[in-house]
Amino acid sequence: MLRVWGVRTSWRTVGDGEFYCPDCGGDRNFRRRTGRRRLTVLGVPVLSRGSTGPVVECSTCSGRFDMEALDRPTSTRFSAMLRDGVHTTALAVLAAGGAAKGPREAAVAAVRSAGLADCTEEQLLTLVQALAADAGRLPGWTETPQDEPGGAALAIELREALEPLAPHLEPAGREAILLRGARIALADGPYAPAERETLQTVGEALRIPREDTERLLADAARTPS
Ligand SMILES: [Zn+2]
Repeated sequence: MLRVWGVRTSWRTVGDGEFYCPDCGGDRNFRRRTGRRRLTVLGVPVLSRGSTGPVVECSTCSGRFDMEALDRPTSTRFSAMLRDGVHTTALAVLAAGGAAKGPREAAVAAVRSAGLADCTEEQLLTLVQALAADAGRLPGWTETPQDEPGGAALAIELREALEPLAPHLEPAGREAILLRGARIALADGPYAPAERETLQTVGEALRIPREDTERLLADAARTPS
C-alpha cells in the first residue's frame, strides 16, 4: 500500500545538557528540540501543521521525553544532594545536642557512609562551631547540651539541604536520613529537647508526616543501634 498522506516532523536542536534518561537508565546527554510538523503527499511536504515540542531527546537511546524529564536530578547530582542532606542533618543534630564524643563519632560514621569518605571529627566540629556562631551561641557551648531550640539559621540550612531531596526519595529513603540523625542524637543518651526539635525539622523538611516522625524517633530511642 502506497501511503499518500502523511505527517513529517523535522526537528531542530535548541539546547543541550545532561539528564537522567528514564529509558536507558543513567546520566546521559540530551538535546532539547522543537519540531515543525508538515503534511506530506507522497512524501513531499505541502502544508505546515504547526510546531511541536519542545522535547528532550536522549543522545544515547534517542528516546524523546516531555520537558519534565529534566526535573529529575542526574545520578551524580542526586548523590551530591544525598551526601549534603546527611551531612547537614548530622551537623544540625550535633549543634543542637552539644557535640559530645558519642554523637561526634556517630556523625562521622553517618557522613562517611553517605559518601564523604574523608570526613573527620575535626571538620565536623569546625562546621558546627561556625553554625553555632551564626545562631548567636556563646563560646564554650560545646561542653553543655543546649536546651534551647537549634535556632532559625539551622532550620533554614536543613530545609535548603533536605527539601529539594524529598520528592526524589522513597519514604524509606527519607526515613533513613531521619534515623541517621536520631542515632547521632541517641549516641549520648535520650534526646535533648533541642535535638528532638531539630529532628522534627528534619522530618518536616523531608515531608515525613509529623506522626510518622514521632513514631520513628520513639522506635529509635527504644532499640539499641
Ligand atoms: Zn536514553
